[in-house]
Amino acid sequence: MNELIYPHADHPQPGVTVEVADGVRWLSMPMGGSLSHINLYLLEDKDGWWVVDTGLGVEETEQWWQQIFAKELNGRPVIGVICTHMHPDHIGQSKMITDQFRVPLYMTQAEYYQARAFSSSAGSHHSSWAGSEFYVRAGMDETYLAELQKMWQSRSSEGMSMPEMPTGYHRLKDGDVLTIGHHDWQIVVGSGHSPEHACLYCAALKVMISGDQILPIITSNVSVHPTEPNANPLMEWMESHNRFLRIPDDTFVLPAHNLPFFGIRERLRELISHHEDRMLAIEEHCVEPDTAKALLPVLFARELDPRQMMMALGEAIAHVHLLMYRNRIERTLHEDGKYRFRSIDPDLARRSHPGTHDAPSDGPILV
Ligand SMILES: [Zn+2]
Repeated sequence: MNELIYPHADHPQPGVTVEVADGVRWLSMPMGGSLSHINLYLLEDKDGWWVVDTGLGVEETEQWWQQIFAKELNGRPVIGVICTHMHPDHIGQSKMITDQFRVPLYMTQAEYYQARAFSSSAGSHHSSWAGSEFYVRAGMDETYLAELQKMWQSRSSEGMSMPEMPTGYHRLKDGDVLTIGHHDWQIVVGSGHSPEHACLYCAALKVMISGDQILPIITSNVSVHPTEPNANPLMEWMESHNRFLRIPDDTFVLPAHNLPFFGIRERLRELISHHEDRMLAIEEHCVEPDTAKALLPVLFARELDPRQMMMALGEAIAHVHLLMYRNRIERTLHEDGKYRFRSIDPDLARRSHPGTHDAPSDGPILV
């Protein structure tokens, strides 16, 4: 286990905010499933408040927001909304809040347009030949697509489908500085979990709002999806971790899930070595060529429902794609329509240490 320091033992009650730094308030919204909470933050400016991330697009979350607007903002309005990235638990109430206060939404370009694309009625890859081919090549049978489609229909009622987005946005870029109240917040962009994830870093306060880019306990999902079947998101993820290692170690990290913590460098090093360990375990498995599906027990110990299976497969493929990029695995398409992955690094025998790897994860893979 890691040795991170958690100054707060519990999440704030819903509808209540807790000051975690000068002008920075923390609130939590309840979420179903294994995640249990999402953390959202408020930044105090001269004439109102900035909201950082917004919660799921469900009625319960909207009601908690109305209570916060009425009781927790000292009678002052919201003046802007910032979303770290495009996942539904982060953008779900962005339209409600920006409409209610007639204020802009701030996001990076790739996150905003991806959210717009997924929330439109444009075709879903779960019902296209390309989606089907992606999962068949990963080793799944054709019936899996039907299961996935059913799962998406039922999940929309839980707020996990993409909500309607505000029709415009203000663009955030890596290195931008937002002056809010007395403090400068620098935008630090990471990638891998989502395309252009914005973190907010205030050097004077020694605080970073990290979204899903850096979580203290959960390992954020890093997946290849059928929309970009040859993507290499784990490479981007690992490069992002290397860049975030520059953030000073005494920074208080305010994540979107789990609890705020100190120990950013230890956590980053742990995440880097975790993924390196998973990749080595995959290389050892692939001495005999095998499919992405067959790699799941190497990575995950838990029983997987159709959605978790989708995330788990995406993650297994992300690991083999980085290994292919490093010239350690080769991929061949077989007559049965499935890709098989084979380890090709002559140095593998020296590097391998079977039986000593991290146990397959039984934690949630839903972020
Ligand atoms: Zn996310």
